Amino acid sequence: MKKLLLFLLVQSLFLVVSAQQLELFNNSQSAYTIVLPSKPTTVELKAAMVMQDYLQRITGKELTIRQDDQGEQEKEILVGRVQRKAMLELPLAKLQEDGLWVKTAGKKLLIAGGTKKGVLYAAYTFLEKYLGCRKYSSDLTIVPKKATIVLNEINDRQLPAFTYREVFYNDAYDQEYSDWHKLHSFEGRGVDKSQWGYWVHTFASLLDIKEYGSTHPEYFSFYDGQRHAEAIPNWDGTGSQPEGQLCLSNPDVLDIVCRNLKKAMDKKPDALYWSVSQNDNVNHCKCKPCAALDSTYAAFKPEDKMYSTHGGEKYPALGMGSILHFVNQVADRFPDKIISTLAYQYSRVPPKNIAPRKNVNIMLCSIESSRNDPMEIGDTSFSSDLKGWGKLTGNIIIWDYTISFNHLFAPFPNLRVLQPNIQFLQSNNVSALFEQGNIQRGGEFAQLRTYLIARLMWNPQLSIEKEMNDFLIAYYGPAAPYVKEYISLLHDNNQSGRGVKMSSFGSPVEYAESFLSKDLINKYNAIFDRAEAAVKNDEAFFSRVRSAHLPVYYAMLEIARKEKTGPRGAFIKDLNNNWIPNPIIENALNDLYYHCMRTNVSRMAEWDTTPTEYFEKYNDFLEAGQK
Ligand SMILES: [Zn+2]
Repeated sequence: MKKLLLFLLVQSLFLVVSAQQLELFNNSQSAYTIVLPSKPTTVELKAAMVMQDYLQRITGKELTIRQDDQGEQEKEILVGRVQRKAMLELPLAKLQEDGLWVKTAGKKLLIAGGTKKGVLYAAYTFLEKYLGCRKYSSDLTIVPKKATIVLNEINDRQLPAFTYREVFYNDAYDQEYSDWHKLHSFEGRGVDKSQWGYWVHTFASLLDIKEYGSTHPEYFSFYDGQRHAEAIPNWDGTGSQPEGQLCLSNPDVLDIVCRNLKKAMDKKPDALYWSVSQNDNVNHCKCKPCAALDSTYAAFKPEDKMYSTHGGEKYPALGMGSILHFVNQVADRFPDKIISTLAYQYSRVPPKNIAPRKNVNIMLCSIESSRNDPMEIGDTSFSSDLKGWGKLTGNIIIWDYTISFNHLFAPFPNLRVLQPNIQFLQSNNVSALFEQGNIQRGGEFAQLRTYLIARLMWNPQLSIEKEMNDFLIAYYGPAAPYVKEYISLLHDNNQSGRGVKMSSFGSPVEYAESFLSKDLINKYNAIFDRAEAAVKNDEAFFSRVRSAHLPVYYAMLEIARKEKTGPRGAFIKDLNNNWIPNPIIENALNDLYYHCMRTNVSRMAEWDTTPTEYFEKYNDFLEAGQK
């Protein structure tokens, strides 16, 4: 009797689950069709085609795409706002722009999304989360083969943690990668139009110094006893830039800026964000009315907040009052647009008794922050400014940095701060995020970082350990455990919590006694020897492992160039007591160069130095050193 009851119980449980299950494919056959609205949007059409394409690649069977006015069938995959009861009942407005909803309802599968790209994101999320597809890099997509697909009940609604998500890494602008990982581009890289009309440092283009400098010097900054209406050469030697800023209390300046802004908006009607922001210098206007605005809205005494630029110059961070007073007026004239302005250097501290309008966006840059500690503890100055801004507005974009700009190939152990930083930003009312990485081809762990950052931007609470393991296994194959061992050892020694700053402008030479010590470099090379041996018969894995190894070579080369002689130097003495290039260093240089060539690396530093230039300069150094 007990056995019979148990049998009935199991039977009925099985039947209940089975009734909720949805058999999409059985042995590469399917009764399903993909259904679109009769007038689909481009995004809906794209989502339907992504579903059709990937389901065909998984099962070998191509499903038909139909429109919702062609008669309802029981088994349908509904994509977008189709006229079907199950879809019409969903509160899709809750998905806002990019939110997504994957849902089973009876025998229907619903792929739904918000007003922008949500439905496309829902398609990729379904393929990834429920069918095991992956997009690890622009050229590594995993599509598992399955003849039968049975789905359990799904009700998966997701909203992004940030409404704007950009990863400034080369791979992120591959169009499929960008859609798969739900990313944006301020420059409109890829095929999407940019949401940004102007991005940053726009005072110079909104009121031209060439047009007004000589006739209206009063439009420009007053300091050191006079107006500064001149241009100076750019820091990189190309072109020129204004020496100062605009005089923001002058009503004519407001009118001219708004007139020019309107002209620019008419040319790009789709762009939502328009930057009205300071030039890249700290010479803001100190005329009486501007200074009065700054002091009226200052939340501190000038001497209490002395900041320095990343160039080292010191100044009181006192300039936000006049900027926000000005930008709020601009925003009032363009209520349908978002006017973005910089809280940067002299304007980074949040003001008091004035708040940004709802359609004003505040852009904060964490360029001075240390990269080995989470920013909340590693850069208390920045984090306290952000906390203050987070209390004034929920319309904040952070421009954050994740690499060493001068040394794109240097080991840069900041992977452990990515998640705490993004979580910290989310919890302080940040709505948009621009993570600046390496836009060049190549560089240290470029694909891994792009992948992790993209996923964290959508969901800062995910398990980064799980994501990283998943990536490493797929990307490095049998060498994955070794690459992981290297990452762990490197990060265990990154000086986190010891008051040592790892900056985005640092050189590997600075870490020659910490995470790039002689002993550790030997250990790293030994790990990579094992990693390379594990994949020596697989060309793709081997090439990726070699790319991961190059930063160790790069660190050896930079340290050798600095030390010249000694155990880590570029030169040793031969049997006749003559200085010759150290063969270990020569080999590291040759290997680095050859692999950079093979993998199309474009730059060794953010702004200059191709691999060939690096190779030639280093060889010149080795040749000159012998003499
Ligand atoms: Zn002024």
